[in-house]
Amino acid sequence: MQTVKITSIVAAPLFGESPKGGWSAEIKPEDSIHALIAVHTDAGITGYGSVFTDGRLVQAGLEVLKPLFAGENALEPERVTEKLHQNTFWMGRGGTLTHVISGIDIALWDILGKATGQPVGRLLGGIYRRRIQPYCSLLMEEPGRMAETVAAFRQRGFRAFKIGWGPFGRALDPKLDEAIVRAAREAAGDEAKLCVDAGASDAHWPHGLKWALRTAEMLRDFAVTWFEEPLRPDALEDYCALRRASPVPIAGGEVLTRRQSFLPWLTRGAFDIVQPDVTKVGGISEQRRIAWLADEFGIKYIGHGWNTALGLAADLQLAAAMPHCDLVEFIGGSPYVDGITARPFELDEDGFLAIPEGPGLSVALDSEKLARFTPELKLFFAQ
Ligand SMILES: [Mg+2]
Repeated sequence: MQTVKITSIVAAPLFGESPKGGWSAEIKPEDSIHALIAVHTDAGITGYGSVFTDGRLVQAGLEVLKPLFAGENALEPERVTEKLHQNTFWMGRGGTLTHVISGIDIALWDILGKATGQPVGRLLGGIYRRRIQPYCSLLMEEPGRMAETVAAFRQRGFRAFKIGWGPFGRALDPKLDEAIVRAAREAAGDEAKLCVDAGASDAHWPHGLKWALRTAEMLRDFAVTWFEEPLRPDALEDYCALRRASPVPIAGGEVLTRRQSFLPWLTRGAFDIVQPDVTKVGGISEQRRIAWLADEFGIKYIGHGWNTALGLAADLQLAAAMPHCDLVEFIGGSPYVDGITARPFELDEDGFLAIPEGPGLSVALDSEKLARFTPELKLFFAQ
């Protein structure tokens, strides 16, 4: 099998139960902020991917990209998606089209895996691990509710947590920030990993370097694993200064897209941990290159493709194929992760997830479950 032609690419926007993001302009359940992608081929193999943006943009992006992907060889993900990047330079590099290409790229790797009978992780160069610890991502809430939420997910077997967004920093009350983190630490237990995400890529983030430094000092007392997005997403100089001074590791990069955008952040040492989002950054092809470049600088790669079951599946395969990746993000209680596949993700007794070793991403969507969140599925599952 040398050529498998792309016959069509279809998007399925997800909406109806979109989880809150803790954003200052909060997501409503009926908002579409994620879309799944299906790439159909003339060999009867379909690959699936995921995009973190409004489904209407994904549908428009596919229309724009169609002349470039129609008839292309679906067995060559990196070449095909690089062709899409290179030939759309004049339409806003790093924006909607990059997001859409991310979903196409994930789906093409899924196809290559299905066509060769190999898991994507092996096709990326080799498998370093067969299971990985998911950290349960939860929105910040006032301390009492925060403790209850963390305790509920601890009960379900999670041993690593991240709390973020919502009132943290936003309420302009350092005592409240500290009380939330204390409540989460007590509920998680001393043995658990606990990360804190300020979410400073949200609109009009009110703080700067001095707040981030003071807050990092506070977080040291709670032994946090990392402090994420403590500064506005373009504050490169401040990130470099903060990383040098902070007593806790600094993480970021989830809103950056295209490998080229990461160059100054990695070469100048802005992060301890870099978190590209495979469903925005350009897909698995792009994410692998960022992860390896980070590795050369001793910066740990931990993916951010957590928003749907397919984003998580892509992160799991990338985690298998990187030598130092030791966590994946897992959103707590999202129907778009837990409620669209034939088999739900299950934690083992240590709170780890097995990395699937079947062909491709090795995740089977359930069309009946998916129909709850996207009404028009005829073309999505059609060959
Ligand atoms: Mg984050």
